[in-house]
Amino acid sequence: MELICIVCPNGCHLTVNQTPAGIAVTGNKCNRGEQYGRDELIDPRRTVTAVVRTTDFKHPCVPVKSDRPIAKPLINEVLRKIYSLHIDLPVKRGDICIDNCCNSGAAICYSRSLFPSSTERQA
Ligand code: SF4
Repeated sequence: MELICIVCPNGCHLTVNQTPAGIAVTGNKCNRGEQYGRDELIDPRRTVTAVVRTTDFKHPCVPVKSDRPIAKPLINEVLRKIYSLHIDLPVKRGDICIDNCCNSGAAICYSRSLFPSSTERQA
């Protein structure tokens, strides 16, 4: 398998192969790239970022992010769950929006605080 390491901006071109002796990673400039290549072959995961719809007309959505990488086969289901929501404000940055989303083990958390427009000061 050919892939580009996304751990740092160097973007090393990795070759990852399953051999009788185990997983062989070449093209990496450091150990983090070797680990990334192994993980991509065995259990690829990604941090999920998205937005959740709100009921507030002035702030129609709030950004969210998974608190840990989620297995790639689960990501579409996680996104469908996130996009199915319609939440009321206020929300606080770091608070959990969905715990253990789709049994992934990851919590989906708000990336920013947002208050209802009705409570904002008039200019
Ligand atoms: S292998 Fe190491 S140096 Fe190369 S992109 Fe990955 S983390 Fe960066």
